[in-house]
Amino acid sequence: MEYFVGLERALDLARRVSLEHKVEMVSLDRAHGRFLATDLSSLVDDPPFDNSSMDGFAVREEDVKEIPCNLEIVGVSKAMATEEQIMVGVGQAARVMTGAIIPKGADAIIMVEKTKTSEDESTVELFELAKKGWIRKKGENLREGQVALTGGTRLSPHHLGLAATMGHPLLPLHRRLIISIIPTGDELKQPGEELVQGEIYESNSFGLAGLVKQLDCLPLRRETCADSLDALRKALDSAADESDVILTSGGVSMGEWDLVRRLMEEEGDIHFWRVKIRPGSPPLFGTWKGTPLFGLPGNPVSSHVVFRMLVKPWLLAQMGVEPPYENVIPVVLLEDIKAAEKCHTLRRINVEKSDEGLVASLKTHQGSGNLHSMVAANALTFLPPGSTAKAGEVIDVIML
Ligand code: AMP
Ligand code: MG
Repeated sequence: MEYFVGLERALDLARRVSLEHKVEMVSLDRAHGRFLATDLSSLVDDPPFDNSSMDGFAVREEDVKEIPCNLEIVGVSKAMATEEQIMVGVGQAARVMTGAIIPKGADAIIMVEKTKTSEDESTVELFELAKKGWIRKKGENLREGQVALTGGTRLSPHHLGLAATMGHPLLPLHRRLIISIIPTGDELKQPGEELVQGEIYESNSFGLAGLVKQLDCLPLRRETCADSLDALRKALDSAADESDVILTSGGVSMGEWDLVRRLMEEEGDIHFWRVKIRPGSPPLFGTWKGTPLFGLPGNPVSSHVVFRMLVKPWLLAQMGVEPPYENVIPVVLLEDIKAAEKCHTLRRINVEKSDEGLVASLKTHQGSGNLHSMVAANALTFLPPGSTAKAGEVIDVIML
């Protein structure tokens, strides 16, 4: 077991444990927000044929050197036309709809707004020179066989549209990971119950379940576990049976009642304990009977921050996503911030636009039990160990 490791080291150690990849084929309708398991190549050329990007007339460019001019109309090419292909010869034009096949012989398009059709619809008068650019060429977007979506992509609407364009009815996706969340602590009550002296509402499991869902995994919020080795052992055993990963909250500090750490030490396998981040230095990572387990701190802000800095990168790596995992942006500090000597410092901060660009200031007190500070903030500072962070300096922040 390594003790009090830097953030990068913690991520390296955690990455040495990985889950077996399980892939399932899912229909386009159900694939939104999920992670693609393998590269996807196009089954067709896109577009599959030369077509018009305008409603108008397809002509031979050399027939329209001077305007206005008149051409004979020889037919109509509609989007989805299945009829015999029209042929445009010298002095002729064919009506085309957007997306329709370009008639044989034609090499340019004139938009319908710049034309006038004779009353009997036998001829058309053109008021603008023809343009080749209004022909979308077969395969100009994608060639058959070309990889256009890579494994690890989280499927947004435009990704799904492209998968359909490429002809895939089913997509190979990572199976959703099931993540057990076990809050621990004798002092914890469910919201809705009455608190007696010394009790607080259990909140971490709800926040963590949301964080898990944001990564398209399935949270299993489990019953709050009492501070007893027996209860905890039972809870970990059943979580290990029913899930791919276990998250615990609380019980990982130095205290005598920090039983998650004790049980993992005695009967599990700890890979590291304590990480150089603030807030959130107590976490541990290891396996319980083969199931990866992150022991998160009990303090609500710390449990969020640790999820974000340790659990999220690990889960995304399981899904084949390449770093960076966070949108880190530079901002100008409006006030001094206390940065930790040995740890990455992740203070809750507010970033705003100003005439000078993005500026940031602290809005609330920074206690790691103060979850309201997280709601009031829109970013976390991302200060490497030993940073200075004085008013006027540019620092990195992670947008929440
Ligand atoms: P622990 O790490 O168990 O010593 O807990 C640290 C602090 O976080 C204590 O004040 C706990 O009451 C609080 N805490 C622990 N677990 C939770 C939880 N699930 N929800 C809200 N607060 C918690
Ligand atoms: Mg506790």
